[in-house]
Amino acid sequence: MIVGSELDAVLWWDQLPTELRAPLGPPLTQDTTADVAIVGAGYTGLWTAYYLQQAMPDARISIIEAHCAGYGASGRNGGWASAYFPQDHDALIRSFGLSAAQAMDAAMNDSVDEIGRVAHEHEWEIDWAKGGTVVAARSQAQLAAFHARDAHLRALGFTPSTQLLSARATENLMGATKVVGGTFNPNCAAIQPAKLVRHLARHVVQGGADLYENTPARSIEPGIVRTERADVRARYVIRATEGYTAQIPGLHRRLIPFYSSMVATEPLPPKAWDEIELASRPTFSDGRRLVIYGQRTADDRLAFGGRGAPYSFGSRISPVIDDAAIYRRLQGILADLFPVLHGYRFTHAWSGTLGIARDWWASVGLDPVTGLGWAGGYVGDGVGTSNLAGRTLAALVCGRDDNALTQLPWVGHHSRSWEVEPLRWLATTAALNVTSSADRIESRTGRASLRGRIVDALTGH
Ligand SMILES: Cc1cc2nc3c(=O)[nH]c(=O)nc-3n(C[C@H](O)[C@H](O)[C@H](O)COP(=O)(O)OP(=O)(O)OC[C@H]3O[C@@H](n4cnc5c(N)ncnc54)[C@H](O)[C@@H]3O)c2cc1C
Repeated sequence: MIVGSELDAVLWWDQLPTELRAPLGPPLTQDTTADVAIVGAGYTGLWTAYYLQQAMPDARISIIEAHCAGYGASGRNGGWASAYFPQDHDALIRSFGLSAAQAMDAAMNDSVDEIGRVAHEHEWEIDWAKGGTVVAARSQAQLAAFHARDAHLRALGFTPSTQLLSARATENLMGATKVVGGTFNPNCAAIQPAKLVRHLARHVVQGGADLYENTPARSIEPGIVRTERADVRARYVIRATEGYTAQIPGLHRRLIPFYSSMVATEPLPPKAWDEIELASRPTFSDGRRLVIYGQRTADDRLAFGGRGAPYSFGSRISPVIDDAAIYRRLQGILADLFPVLHGYRFTHAWSGTLGIARDWWASVGLDPVTGLGWAGGYVGDGVGTSNLAGRTLAALVCGRDDNALTQLPWVGHHSRSWEVEPLRWLATTAALNVTSSADRIESRTGRASLRGRIVDALTGH
């Protein structure tokens, strides 16, 4: 059983049935060979293995995982299986044109349904509820931003799936305070993220993949993954290490690790839900810039998270974020959204690491010469995007001419490296401070602020 680690604090791991908590593979102790070696057993690595097994049933696949499958963000996230991509449609249209942005949008929408389809096909219970996403505008500045974004995209010829809502329609979905309007996007399902990643891992192992847990890769090179005790040689080597990538030699400035933190309440009684709503389990947020996200769980809790934990100098990652102030802040935001929560207990608090590229772009690719592949940089939108990445990497490895996947604008995209320290720390800390203060100013004044526009420019929105 995987117990006694920081995963004990994570609601999703606490809820896992015994059969999904059992270790899935031994550490690597002897040199071995494979057709494809994948480093990282989160959604990216495991979806890649899943689709490779479908396309090439005889392929020998080795998965090298530093801890246990699902240890990273995949086992700790907010459970939004959404069609959001880290770069918004406007940036995609500006860089690649309207039809490429439309193709990316369609592929992301498909990814949500594909996750549900696979889970249904294999009878994985992942607490799936495709209730869409409701985002409340809780100030006039937020409402104006929603309307401006909608009008801007339509002027570019793009029809967004996100619909504008009146205050009443928003409140019917999400009984939050201070609502002046909102949006609804139907392309999102609430899921139990650890159930998905552990089912996926168990499935690929049962399908013949070799999963080596408790085996940190020391280096990722063409044709070889070196670990402490032994190496894996393979024609293709895939990096699927997301927020942890900076710890691998030679990849220090590729993606920076950023924390996102979550809290969860005890199961709430029907009288509380009468006020909170979320009846069809839509995922929810509001229009502030420092992202918050939540879902009503299958057992009637609120699981709620947000960014705001500081970036650690040198891209260091601590296994546990033991900062009570971060969790108190999240509890405070949730109680402000839903005052009915006063008097109910918070039972869980945890954090996880996500990966951010210098230009905020997610990317996927495979160098056909060296055989090195990668996917990541999803920021906080990796549940749906990693499924698309897995399908794309499988198509690239097989050399399959699947243009609907391999011609998408994020394929082969290279982001430039992050700055050296202390510039990286200074820039990210300043950006976090500017984002928080833009939210404070806009909520007080009700108007868009200069700081907010700076944040939009920095994050490509
Ligand atoms: C708190 C939180 C909430 C989030 N909420 C959402 C959400 O609601 N919706 C959404 O779309 N996205 C969300 N995200 C982002 C999403 O969870 C991630 O983008 C996604 O899970 C990334 O999957 P991955 O497989 O690429 O990375 P991970 O799941 O992080 O997996 C990487 C794996 O690589 C392993 N590894 C790292 N280094 C090595 C090494 N040297 N050797 C071997 N193995 C190694 C790690 O142990 C880990 O298991 C959230 C993230 C966090 C942290």
